[in-house]
Amino acid sequence: MMRRSPFLSLPAFFMQITRRVRTIGLLLPVLAGLALLAGLAGFRISEGMGLAALQETGRHRLDLYAESLEREIDKYAYFPATLGLERDVLDLVTGRAPLAWGLNRYLERLNERAGTLSIYVLNRQGRVVAASNWNRPDSFIGEDLSYRPYFIEAAAGRQGRLFGVGTTRGEAGYYLSSPLAEDGAIVGVAVVKVSLEQLEQSWSTVEAPVLVSDENGVVILASVPSWKFTTLRAMDEPTRRQFDRTLQYNARPLPPLGLTPLDRIAPDAELVQLARPADGEAETAVFPVSGSFLAQTAPLHGTGWTMTVLSPVSQITGMAWTRAALAAVGSAFLGILLLMWVQRRGHLRDLERKVEERTRNLRAAQDELVHAGKLAVIGQLSAGLAHELNQPLAALRTLSGNTVKFLQRGNLDAAKSNLERIAQLVDAMGALTSQLKSFARKSSGAPRPVAVRRPIDNALFLLEQRLRRSDIAVTVDVPEDVAALCDPNRLEQVLVNLVANGLDALAGRTGGKMTLTARTEDGRTRIQVADNGHGLSEDVLPRLFEPFFTTKEAAKDGAREGSGGLGLGLAISAGIVRDFDGALTGANGADGGAVFTIDLPAADLPADPTTILAEDLACPTLPPPP
Ligand code: ADP
Repeated sequence: MMRRSPFLSLPAFFMQITRRVRTIGLLLPVLAGLALLAGLAGFRISEGMGLAALQETGRHRLDLYAESLEREIDKYAYFPATLGLERDVLDLVTGRAPLAWGLNRYLERLNERAGTLSIYVLNRQGRVVAASNWNRPDSFIGEDLSYRPYFIEAAAGRQGRLFGVGTTRGEAGYYLSSPLAEDGAIVGVAVVKVSLEQLEQSWSTVEAPVLVSDENGVVILASVPSWKFTTLRAMDEPTRRQFDRTLQYNARPLPPLGLTPLDRIAPDAELVQLARPADGEAETAVFPVSGSFLAQTAPLHGTGWTMTVLSPVSQITGMAWTRAALAAVGSAFLGILLLMWVQRRGHLRDLERKVEERTRNLRAAQDELVHAGKLAVIGQLSAGLAHELNQPLAALRTLSGNTVKFLQRGNLDAAKSNLERIAQLVDAMGALTSQLKSFARKSSGAPRPVAVRRPIDNALFLLEQRLRRSDIAVTVDVPEDVAALCDPNRLEQVLVNLVANGLDALAGRTGGKMTLTARTEDGRTRIQVADNGHGLSEDVLPRLFEPFFTTKEAAKDGAREGSGGLGLGLAISAGIVRDFDGALTGANGADGGAVFTIDLPAADLPADPTTILAEDLACPTLPPPP
């Protein structure tokens, strides 16, 4: 039989290592790619979530700020129209009353009470006829404001709403104008100029920059002072010329704010970049005033204005990067764990395969050895058998010769007695040969319930000749119903080994005794073979079941009396017993000799005797010695 080395050959070992390294080399970039993807996904998800949360708060702020501004503006919405109810006002604008002193003072008081910047009345031509600031050097009285858009609107019969910078004092404000009508005809215009500074001041405490731009994209209100009178979008020449003509912003330069749109994420929300301010603006503000922002806009009702709230996204980006790094590291860690697990599984599979292969090889080797062991015993037996058979054969020869003579003489009784003796001898010889046949047969080895008494008797029978020649008293204490789950032929083989070893240990001694017992207890059947020989020394005990361990000298010319000398008997026997889920153990007995115990699973004998195989039934007994 070919024997395989348990170790890999060197080239195979290197090939395996190279293969592993190559697998890892291939997997590492994949792992890195996966980590990168996980990082990117982590970033995107975190950024998306952060932006959604920011959008939510931004929208909330926008609603809050817009509402307060609208409330402020609404307070004055119907103010100019109510002036049209005053008789004095109508008289003045139509020229029916030439002097405006009383009305001027009335407007002055009204202006103080309402907290507005100024209140004034224009006639149909657009000239100021009465004003709250009548007694100031820069009073509007007599001024022609017909070119101002709020006058044009109101003169056309509509409500005028306009943010503008005053031409006289350069004061920014919100102009609300209403037509003054009499008998269905427009006879003048009333104007109220409202300051929004109060509201603007309250904005300095808001958590995010907020600004209001008018219909031209000019920032008219802002929580950051330097943003005021800048433009959100580039202004073309015609628009600029129009501003120059109407003096809406009183010839202010209107530089761009420096807002660059980056990405629109919703109809009313856009990511924008704000350029770094030139001077120390950033330090004075309680919130960042440059960098990336989420700009959210809402129109302000009743005006052509748009409110914009800017929420800084730097925090979100920082958080997203942290989460991305965590996701990448986490996925890389998981990947490495997976890789290790895959590698380990590969290792284990390799190992399992090797163990399986080796077990197969060992089992085959053991089978061979069992078979070889049997043949060796047969070899030893044949010498004894030849001797055993020679005597009956010689007797047969003599008996048959005598029978012929008795027949010739007509002595039938003597002939009959001879023939009966011949039949007995032939039976005994047949029993011997059939036993040999069963011993040499390779057993299937499948376990089945076996009454252990029979293999014990068979083993003793096989060694009968040696037993008879020695002076050993054999005691068998085995009840018929003690059964074990095993193969009878293999059990017999084990017993032959154990009894033969006992015989060896007792060789040359007087008063040798061997005891074979069997009992079933707690689901196990234990068969014990005990002798009163030299026992097992401390050197022998630990190596008892080691293959090729023997203390017996090699037999001369193979004509040795003992069962072995190869040191295989116990190793093979232990293997056989193990195959049946059993155990073979050796120890020293109380009376100094060795005790071997075969421990097997107990079995119930089948009630139906036909299930017992024919080979189990053949239990010959030797004829009495002639
Ligand atoms: P072998 O019989 O060929 O030596 P075994 O495996 O059957 O091989 O036995 C190994 C050794 O165990 C023997 O050489 C002997 O030293 C010891 N041994 C086995 N049975 C007995 C026994 N009944 N009494 C004392 N020693 C024993």
